[in-house]
Amino acid sequence: MSVICPTCAAADETAAVRKALLDSDRPLDPPTRELLSLPPEPGGTTGAAITLFVLGGLFALLGLRALFSDDGGGSSDPAYQFGRDYGVLLVAAVLLGIAFTIHSGHRSSRSDTTDRWPRTYGQWQQLQQVWKASWLCRRCRVAFLPAAPAGPGPGHNPGHNPGHNPGPGPAASAAVPFAEFPQWTAGIARQDDHPAAPTTPTTSH
Ligand SMILES: [Zn+2]
Repeated sequence: MSVICPTCAAADETAAVRKALLDSDRPLDPPTRELLSLPPEPGGTTGAAITLFVLGGLFALLGLRALFSDDGGGSSDPAYQFGRDYGVLLVAAVLLGIAFTIHSGHRSSRSDTTDRWPRTYGQWQQLQQVWKASWLCRRCRVAFLPAAPAGPGPGHNPGHNPGHNPGPGPAASAAVPFAEFPQWTAGIARQDDHPAAPTTPTTSH
C-alpha cells in the first residue's frame, strides 16, 4: 500500500506513524518521537486507593462479623466488647475515608490540567484509532490521514469523477506539522466522540 503525501504528492517518504516510531533503521529524533507517540492510556483509581478500598472492606467485614457473632469471647467487660466490635468498624471507616480522599484527589488533579484529553479509557481508544490510521511524511515533516480505504461513501463525490480517476475515493486529509500532531489527533478523535450515543448499545431491546 503506497500512501501519497498530500504536501509533496510523493509516496517514497511516507510511513505509518506507528511504524515510523518502531523503525530502527531510520529512527526519528527524540522530540519528534515525543510528539508522535500515543499518550499513555488514562489510569483509573491509583493502586494505593485500591489497596485501601480492599483493606477497608475487609475490616468492615470483620467488624460486622464480630457484631453479629455474639460469642461473648469469655470477657464480660462491656467496654472491651464495645471496643472490639466498633473499633474494627472505625478502622474500616478511616481506611475508606483515606481511599476516597486519594481517589478524588487523583481525579481532580487530572482534571485540573487544562485541555487534558483523553480522560477515559474509551476516549483513549478513540484516540488510538486515529493514531493507528495516521501517516507521516519524513520529507515534509507532516502527519496526515490517508484517504479512507474502500467503501462507497454515500454521496461524497456524486458523478464528478467520470472514469479517469478510478481508485482513490475521498482525498487524504490536510497535512499538519509534527508539532500539532497531539492536538490534531485528539481533535479528530473527539469529533468521532458521540456523547449522545450509548457506549454499549442494547441489542436485546
Ligand atoms: Zn511529503
